[in-house]
Formats: sequence, C-alpha cells, structure tokens
Amino acid sequence: MANPKDEMQERTCRSCRQPYRYPGRGSLATRFHCEACAELPAPVRAAFERFHRQIALLTSRIEQLERQVSVR
Ligand SMILES: [Zn+2]
Repeated sequence: MANPKDEMQERTCRSCRQPYRYPGRGSLATRFHCEACAELPAPVRAAFERFHRQIALLTSRIEQLERQVSVR
C-alpha cells in the first residue's frame, strides 16, 4: 500500500488560490504554494494572500447586497 504522504493531492495554492497537484514529479510546488508561486519572493506571496482575503470579503459583501436588491 502506498504511503498516504506520497500520494498526489489536489491542493489549493495559498497565494494565487489556483488548484494544483502535489507532490508533482520534478515540480517546485510546496505543500502550500503552486509551482509558479513557490518561486516568488515571500513578501510577494504574502501580498497575494492579503489581496485574496480582501477579494473574498468584497465578493461576499457584493453577494449580500445583490440578495438585498433582489428581495425588494
Ligand atoms: Zn500559486
């Protein structure tokens, strides 16, 4: 039986929120970041993570407002 740690997993990148496979053979991807983001400097990844939190917040706010408008 394969070690579950070695199994390929579908993960979501913490930085760009894109799905990626981990661990990929010869891939630079880490447990938390996709291959593209793994090469970015840490402050840039941190900025992306901040932006995504803001976007998630705004998206849910917009959905709230849309529901209010459609009730009227
Ligand atoms: Zn990424």
